[in-house]
Amino acid sequence: MAIIGIDLGTTNSLVSIWRNNKVELIPNSFGNVLTPSVVSVDEEGNIYVGEVAKERLISNPEMTIASFKKFMGTNKRITLNNNIFTPEELSSLILKRLKKDAEEYLGEEIEEAIISVPAYFNDDQRQATKNAGKIAGLKVERLVNEPSAAALAGRTLFNKNETTMLIIDIGGGTCDISLVECFDNVVSVVAVSGDNSLGGNDFDEVIAKHFCFRNNLDYNKLCSEAKGILLKNAELCKLKLSFEESATIDLNLSNIKGKLVLTRQEFVQLSSELFLKIKKVIQRVLIDSDFEKDEIEDIVLVGGCCKTYIIQKFIQHLFDKIPLYVGEPNQIVGMGVGIYAGIKTRDEDIKEVLLTDICPFSLGVAVINKESSYEGEIFSPIIERNTVLPTSQAQFYMKAYKERDKIILSIYQGENRLVKDNLKLGEILIPMPKDIEGHIKVTFTYDINGILEVETEILELNEKIVNVILSDSNKRLSEEEIQEKISKMKNIKIESDIKEKIEYLISLANSLYSQTTGSLRHKLNIEIDNFLINIKTKNRQKRIEFIEQFSNFLNDITNILGQNLNDNLNFSLNNYWYFDFRDKDKE
Ligand code: ADP
Ligand code: MG
Repeated sequence: MAIIGIDLGTTNSLVSIWRNNKVELIPNSFGNVLTPSVVSVDEEGNIYVGEVAKERLISNPEMTIASFKKFMGTNKRITLNNNIFTPEELSSLILKRLKKDAEEYLGEEIEEAIISVPAYFNDDQRQATKNAGKIAGLKVERLVNEPSAAALAGRTLFNKNETTMLIIDIGGGTCDISLVECFDNVVSVVAVSGDNSLGGNDFDEVIAKHFCFRNNLDYNKLCSEAKGILLKNAELCKLKLSFEESATIDLNLSNIKGKLVLTRQEFVQLSSELFLKIKKVIQRVLIDSDFEKDEIEDIVLVGGCCKTYIIQKFIQHLFDKIPLYVGEPNQIVGMGVGIYAGIKTRDEDIKEVLLTDICPFSLGVAVINKESSYEGEIFSPIIERNTVLPTSQAQFYMKAYKERDKIILSIYQGENRLVKDNLKLGEILIPMPKDIEGHIKVTFTYDINGILEVETEILELNEKIVNVILSDSNKRLSEEEIQEKISKMKNIKIESDIKEKIEYLISLANSLYSQTTGSLRHKLNIEIDNFLINIKTKNRQKRIEFIEQFSNFLNDITNILGQNLNDNLNFSLNNYWYFDFRDKDKE
């Protein structure tokens, strides 16, 4: 069964498929590969999607909606002629339309799709996208970040197997910039950064506002129809400036009148704030990835807005390099998702390409710092943004109040210091005996499908609890499915987890050594030496076995010493955070 790739864009959407050793963009019934992401309802309740809906943006603005992708994952309701829609329902209408176009083109039924989303989409937005797919009757097992899709396509289109690419994707409403390394058959996204409210629409608005300024009109007081007409003309003016030195808007309608002649030079000046915003996103990617400007080998322009002449010149000026540019940058993500769909179908021709992705946001827990004057909860990141996926990372914490008998571990996603400004993903209750200090190790394992496994280990009790946090609170998996995912995730734990354990055991062994004498000390000495030699093996399974053996041995020694292992916990971490936990029952 074929899998289609879908670029569900803010402005335009595309559907593609991998067939006959290449990616094909599928045309809609108008013969266009770009389908406007616009939905409209008429007086009789008929629904229009795409080209026709886009036309109705001006004739029936109250019954038509565009750019609703920016509301994905929010509780916003959109009313179109007495019909109330959620953003995901609107998106599902686009998806249904693309599904139908693909089915007609391919002559077969389509059940599964891969959909691309902006790198900066949080879990709620990603879940909303998956829900939209479900509503449209599509199985969406995988979402792919738009920059990753663009990188895949860029690599193919420019035949660049060995390069460090900066992918600049400026669409209608979003700006995603990513640094990608291509080597051998690997496409590896190193860092992404974005601005969810920066795109071609903002350039249109700049022109529209300037038109009003020149013609003594108040932009904010225009009726929605006049605004629609003006914005459409501002966009046409922008498109014209991609090919010509100057462009004119001349309106003589009942609700809006005026004229503007705009040159490229003036357009540059009007857009200076937007350029600054683009520059800021680029800077963040370079800082996050620890790359210098000169280390970027290729710059790939993606997204319709990158057809803008002054943006191309701006990028060229910034890097002192001519960006790679193909005829239709707004088709690159669509092609990339199609290639990705081919990889997922395990097509023989492309299976050798390995795509590594990164976590576009930080994941962590809420803590309180007893030493700080701030009494609220602070975010303690465990997986930092731009970490390569799949990943497994751990941090150590301890109970804030020894007398409490549980910890509530609150899991958040975001980049803000105070948790209240981040997105809460879930909560785990960890019962704990009252009298212990409560040292716990929290391990986050995050995979490419956005499933977060949280393992908590109470070090004093040697007790582990594993939880799977699914971003989709509406869609809990069955116990069986969770078990399946847990065991699957087990295989992807990375080395750092083991390294931490080794360090912990060595420090414990050293501490025991200092407390022993005679034959016991001699035995410890031999076993420590053996462990240090054995653990050098590259075989992960063997390392795990050696760790277990050594850990048991140290436990025995501890018992011989008649001490509780807990007293000897000696962490090298010098900075403890303290959990705040509220007594749920009392709240
Ligand atoms: P999205 O990813 O948001 O769906 P696209 O990649 O299709 O968007 O880009 C849409 C944006 O590209 C719009 O703002 C549109 O005005 C702009 N655009 C399309 N063609 C051109 C062009 N020739 N010159 C400048 N801007 C263009
Ligand atoms: Mg796009």
